[in-house]
Amino acid sequence: MRRKIVAGNWKMNKSLQEGIDLARAIDDHMMNNRRMDVEAILCPPYIHLAQIANTVKSGKVAVGAQDCSDKESGAFTGEISASMIKSTGTGYVIIGHSERRNYHNETDELLNAKITEALRNDLSVIFCCGEILNERERGDHFDIVKSQIEKGLAGISKDEFRNIIIAYEPVWAIGTGVTASSEQAQEMHFFIRSVLSNIYNKKMADETVILYGGSCKPSNSVELFSMKDVDGGLIGGASLNKEDFCKIIDIFPL
Ligand code: PEP
Repeated sequence: MRRKIVAGNWKMNKSLQEGIDLARAIDDHMMNNRRMDVEAILCPPYIHLAQIANTVKSGKVAVGAQDCSDKESGAFTGEISASMIKSTGTGYVIIGHSERRNYHNETDELLNAKITEALRNDLSVIFCCGEILNERERGDHFDIVKSQIEKGLAGISKDEFRNIIIAYEPVWAIGTGVTASSEQAQEMHFFIRSVLSNIYNKKMADETVILYGGSCKPSNSVELFSMKDVDGGLIGGASLNKEDFCKIIDIFPL
């Protein structure tokens, strides 16, 4: 049985106090959630990480950063290293979000270096992949995702890979209000397992948590999460609101 995960990417939102209040409310909600295999991961901006990590007490809510540097330390103004993130009590880091790929020109090679550095510092990675609209319309979406995964995971050993979650996020669905249909999501998640099976093996591919991300809301997540290969979601907009995020968590039935 794979873990069920609902991760919230807060992006560049929330003051410190707003973040603490939201994290506390979600943590309280999780205390009352009797499903032990459902986990929430909250990914606030870097500067809130330490206090949010201190706020969550239920044991069912983890904290993640939204990015990390590929460098260990040194003269890299404005950068945050994986070891600094780890030292705040944070357990996860998102790597390869399309907004980083797009606005910060992050290449597959750089993402591979970031993943390597995160894992070396004992952080679990949520590795994002997904095609843009043109690529889907051209029918290239499978090739694009395969290439992102193969390049992103180059040189990552089987042991290291156990600490990686994949998030399939079609870029055309992020923040647009348009989701992939549950069939499109299932088809791609199934394909991603076959790619992972080729790189590692079938057992490891079957054990990998694969999240769907892209305009998830309580109303559309029921169907998406009912798909065999969809193990939860990476949620942007709806993660900023306690009611919506908790409703999405509660979609997994007892
Ligand atoms: C995201 O940014 O990872 C995301 C899925 O955003 P949204 O839910 O707002 O589409």
